[in-house]
Amino acid sequence: MFSKKMHDLGTSPSVIRDLFEYGNKRKAEIGADKVFDFSIGNPSVEPPAKVAETIEKLLRESDGVSLHGYTSGAGDMGVRTAISEYIEKIHGAKVSPSHIYMTCGAAASLTITLGALFEEGDEFITFAPFFPEYRVFVESTGAKFTVAPSDEKDFQPDLAALEKLISPATKGIIINSPNNPSGVVVSEENIVKLCELLKNKSTEIGHPIVLIADEPYRELVYGDVRVPYLMNYYDDTIVCYSYSKSLSLPGERIGYIAVSDRMNGADDAFFAICGCGRSLGFVCAPSLFQRVVKECQGMTSDISIYAKNRQILLDALTSYGYRCIQPDGAFYLFVEALEPDAKAFSDRAKKYELLLVPSDSFGVGGYVRISYCVSTEQIQASLPAFEALAKSYK
Ligand code: PLP
Repeated sequence: MFSKKMHDLGTSPSVIRDLFEYGNKRKAEIGADKVFDFSIGNPSVEPPAKVAETIEKLLRESDGVSLHGYTSGAGDMGVRTAISEYIEKIHGAKVSPSHIYMTCGAAASLTITLGALFEEGDEFITFAPFFPEYRVFVESTGAKFTVAPSDEKDFQPDLAALEKLISPATKGIIINSPNNPSGVVVSEENIVKLCELLKNKSTEIGHPIVLIADEPYRELVYGDVRVPYLMNYYDDTIVCYSYSKSLSLPGERIGYIAVSDRMNGADDAFFAICGCGRSLGFVCAPSLFQRVVKECQGMTSDISIYAKNRQILLDALTSYGYRCIQPDGAFYLFVEALEPDAKAFSDRAKKYELLLVPSDSFGVGGYVRISYCVSTEQIQASLPAFEALAKSYK
């Protein structure tokens, strides 16, 4: 009657969603302000004003047929040209408009890219901790999903471990920086070493290993932290970008895939991307929002709010005795659980109405993820609960 594989996927619980649903139930029981829900990465800051202004302008000035009609499968050429120019201006990398494919967000960027690259017997490798949907996206293509560890002290990628894992089956490496769930930005030094390793390994195994940069958090960085643009370090790079987090537009489903002009067989890779988007039935990315993002290149919602939340949490949690991974980007804090079993710790946190995601589904044990894209009031109000939770372990 139906696919068992898909049924299993549809019924297997996502830990994050489970916790989120539990939070909604609990809020109905005791009041929303009494539950400190840090479960989900839904931006809490308004999109920049330019988003609404552009929508209004487009509605006023364009005719509805062209504004809401299909664009070409890869996206509107004017939009792709604007993105290409932006990438060159800001990052100094060459991605011609004919190598940019508009998508319904990073999830679509990834599924299309993985499907376009996959050949029978391939594997894709990522580093733990990782966004749990990677496993679903990779395995849905038929490829093997392999996890390399990160360095335990700073959660930078463990390149020695990666070197041992790479085999002729390795088609690509997924890098997510700034990282969900750790907030870690991979240092330029490690990017240089990683790219060197991939160049050598590509020669050794006789085919290029593709670097897939999943970058929905690229602009969400704090202080003077820089996120290296991977195409500038490695030719066989495909960037999977999304405006979900930078412009606070996750429900509008808009992003793109950028294939480096310097990639081996870039044109063919792009055709495979077009074919995969077609086979998955994406048709084209939402046309109104393609036009909106064209006018909002490089903008972000007010991330000073996330910066403030991050600092309040870091200072308070450290003073209560928690150990946090240095979060240079995204809006997540990865905190060592106060007992080895992260799930047991998350369950105990619930007694204090704190909803913290246990780290196991991110591919590492012993941590919880705090999504701090919530109101600063919620952060302030939650601090006594964090303190009481820490004291309960003393
Ligand atoms: N990749 C990472 C690392 C994410 O955290 C998310 C969403 O939270 C996605 C991809 C999917 O993003 P989008 O909503 O743009 O599809």
